[in-house]
Amino acid sequence: MLGLAREQREDLKRSSRYVELARKIGTRYNVRLTAEEKGLFCRKCNAVLVPGKTKRTRLDEEAKTVSIKCTNCNYSYRKRYK
Ligand SMILES: [Zn+2]
Repeated sequence: MLGLAREQREDLKRSSRYVELARKIGTRYNVRLTAEEKGLFCRKCNAVLVPGKTKRTRLDEEAKTVSIKCTNCNYSYRKRYK
């Protein structure tokens, strides 16, 4: 399911539906997405995050965080890195 979403990157609306479906199925059968898989999609609108296209990242070297922004819905969040 997630593989399909990745293949459909160019078609954002369609891929969002795949992600939604994958999430629903995951909830139903208690299958958890890996941290890596979670990072591939926007937490808010489920769009596939494509660097340079739907994803903007900015490093804050002092705070050791990376700001990830979804350009599809403008939702942004920070993540710590080592
Ligand atoms: Zn989004």
